[in-house]
Amino acid sequence: GVMVATNSAALSEVWGDIQRAAGAMERILELLKFQPGIMSPKNPHSLPAFTHDSIHFQNIFFNYPSRPEQQALHDFNLTIAPGETIALVGPSGAGKSTVFQLLLRFYAIQQGSITLGGVDIAQADIKQLRQHIAIVPQETSIFATSVMENIRFGKIAATDAEIKTAAKAAAADEFIQRLPERYDTFLGERGLRLSVGQRQRISIARAILKNAPVLLLDEATSSLDAESEKLVQDALQHLMQNRTTLVIAHRLATVLKADRIVVMNHGKIVAIGSHQQLLEQKGLYARLAALQFGEMS
Ligand code: ATP
Repeated sequence: GVMVATNSAALSEVWGDIQRAAGAMERILELLKFQPGIMSPKNPHSLPAFTHDSIHFQNIFFNYPSRPEQQALHDFNLTIAPGETIALVGPSGAGKSTVFQLLLRFYAIQQGSITLGGVDIAQADIKQLRQHIAIVPQETSIFATSVMENIRFGKIAATDAEIKTAAKAAAADEFIQRLPERYDTFLGERGLRLSVGQRQRISIARAILKNAPVLLLDEATSSLDAESEKLVQDALQHLMQNRTTLVIAHRLATVLKADRIVVMNHGKIVAIGSHQQLLEQKGLYARLAALQFGEMS
């Protein structure tokens, strides 16, 4: 009796997740229906299958369809070299997340173009485009299933061995080995709760598993204890290696590691440089750095 009860509870929980996921998918499809621009072209151009993608944002003007009067990006121009790490910094509403949304082609651009490895993303197959890009969001979704299956969301066809290798690279294997049933430990609402730092490392393991050439990282704003912070930074270091990375940065360690920092305000790029160069300009960046990183300007 007890076994059956436990199993059906687990099942209903999984079912709840499936329904929630299906609901989210419906909303996404609903959204796409009202975005006539968002369809794969009939004869899509193939994105080059190389490991380093350059990204080129050219003269982008964009407003969200629901807010035609407000320009979310205004003449946005940026060329990112293969393997480069760009940190996006700017006040709330500056347009940082919009850059991600457009690269993933959740919206059609009104003016300008984005090319990935020389191919206009509007000419690419949407599924192939999104296979090319891994995302580490601010908040990690943990599903009501085992640790193993939670990581597998990064690549559904992954073997258990691949998942464990990714977990090691993401500095997650160590804490997983200490869980009651290791990789079989059940997570989610009725399962074990992970700390924020542990969840972030699960998210990084998924992205490592996906092994996409382009990485979009929306850094968490919540602070971690010093040890988790170091583990997460190590894991990110591993993930970002050899990938073209765009990161919405909230941490000093992250801007210091970036090749270039792009400062945004009101949908525009207002400055580009290194942390030191930007501090010396005593502009918006210096003020933001003082607020966000406690850096004296
Ligand atoms: P934050 O740091 O707060 O996330 P951000 O720099 O990422 O800010 P965006 O989210 O890109 O800024 O927002 C740019 C502008 O577009 C803002 O004025 C915002 O209100 C608007 N905006 C963002 N998402 C939507 C949306 N889905 N529909 C309508 N307007 C939106």
